[in-house]
Amino acid sequence: MAKEELECSFCGRKKPETNLLIAGLDAHICDRCIEQAHGIVLEESKQSDNAELSSELMLKKPQQIKAFLDEYIIGQEHTKKVMSVAVYNHYKRLLQPPSDDDIEIQKSNIIMVGQTGTGKTLMAKTVARMLNVPLAIVDATVLTEAGYVGEDVESILTRLLQAADYNLEKAEKGIVFIDEIDKIARKSDNPSITRDVSGEGVQQALLKLLEGTTVNVPPKGGRKHPDQKFIEVNTEHILFIAGGAFDGIEKKISKRLNLAAIGYKAAQEGEVLDTDNLLQYIIPKDLKDFGLIPEIIGRLPVLTYMDPLDANTLRAILTEPKNAIIKQYKKLFEMDDIDFTITDGALAYIVEKAIEYKLGARGLRSLCEEILTDAMFEMPSSKDDKLNVTKAYAESKLTKTTLKKLKAVS
Ligand code: ADP
Repeated sequence: MAKEELECSFCGRKKPETNLLIAGLDAHICDRCIEQAHGIVLEESKQSDNAELSSELMLKKPQQIKAFLDEYIIGQEHTKKVMSVAVYNHYKRLLQPPSDDDIEIQKSNIIMVGQTGTGKTLMAKTVARMLNVPLAIVDATVLTEAGYVGEDVESILTRLLQAADYNLEKAEKGIVFIDEIDKIARKSDNPSITRDVSGEGVQQALLKLLEGTTVNVPPKGGRKHPDQKFIEVNTEHILFIAGGAFDGIEKKISKRLNLAAIGYKAAQEGEVLDTDNLLQYIIPKDLKDFGLIPEIIGRLPVLTYMDPLDANTLRAILTEPKNAIIKQYKKLFEMDDIDFTITDGALAYIVEKAIEYKLGARGLRSLCEEILTDAMFEMPSSKDDKLNVTKAYAESKLTKTTLKKLKAVS
């Protein structure tokens, strides 16, 4: 009996008509059918991505959002709570079915005030990670009014489009983190004689983005590609989170609080003020006094503050978050079958140096890197399979010069 000719069980093409025929248990599939099937899978997963986005968003309640933030961010309880509610409300607004009761939920854009290195960017990153939405991190200092040297505010949306792999639908539900918003504060109270192209002008330009509008965005950004077609981006559902150190704002807060104390209300209630952390008393008026225009403040209705990081917090940041620095080193060493441990004394020493040299949380990684570089260089080629970092070991790797160097770059 002639051997039966093999054929694709999906399209019926005979083996010689195909480039490739793959055998399964009781069937065969040809290269063309594989490609087609792959296309269907991609299409389906795109659709379910969108469906997933809305169903996931519906499911996470503020306390669950906070629990997620807790896994990555140490302390900052107040901001985590405020952020959870703001994000929840933002996505409720986004998912609300059209109704005719005229109640329009306002956008809950957020502004975080706190020293650098206290976790503002981390907060925005973690929210974006939880929601699985694209995130663009932009520095307000590079923005200038349209037509001046620097970047137009539209470039913010170019970044978001890039973060979303040019998927417009995803970008329009993304998050924008505007760092150093304090640097575009109005420079003086006088409407200036010279133009303030990187201050109030930028604030004015930002207004419409924050509120929700359709913007023509050059997908590659800048003015270097004059022929590119613009993409229309609607910012109505984009969540804006702004952050800034607002250096010196404590003075304004304290001045306001003292004035209030003379007025008898605060004194009468016998409220004791925590003068070590005045940021917790911040109100929108302080931002206005600092130089943000009232319209911008109005469009960032959720105002919150970051606590300064004390030794205990820094210590916890080293070891506790889901991807804590020490856990990362442990994993790196593990890949070379090296058992890495670090003593409490060494951890305390690292924290102490971070505080002494005012390196903040950002300095923790550079300190660890300095301490561990020699071991990471030598150990993979040696027979040693154990590294226990003690305070003495850490001290021997951190000389005054390296510490000074770290301070200079931080
Ligand atoms: P900011 O934006 O306020 O300047 P970042 O978010 O960039 O600060 O934080 C700097 C580094 O310190 C990040 O790598 C982050 O992982 C770490 N860090 C800062 N604050 C915290 C915190 N509260 N919990 C965990 N890690 C933190």
